[in-house]
Amino acid sequence: MIFKLIILSAIIYGIYILFFRDGNLIEKMSEKNKKSSNDEPVDTVVECKKCGVFISIKEAVIKDGKYYCSNECAGIK
Ligand SMILES: [Zn+2]
Repeated sequence: MIFKLIILSAIIYGIYILFFRDGNLIEKMSEKNKKSSNDEPVDTVVECKKCGVFISIKEAVIKDGKYYCSNECAGIK
């Protein structure tokens, strides 16, 4: 019986710690997200001319004024 009580209180304490830490973590993460979303401009998404995959313009390979998802699709070796 005593062991059950000890285990139960340990579980409750564990959950309490978990929530407490998670709460701090979520707060920190939302702060980071707010900062990064304010600093970074809105990402433009472009379509690969060859395979039709949508990629961020930052990651896109530009060849002859057309966007490609990779050097392979752009025909660059
Ligand atoms: Zn492609």
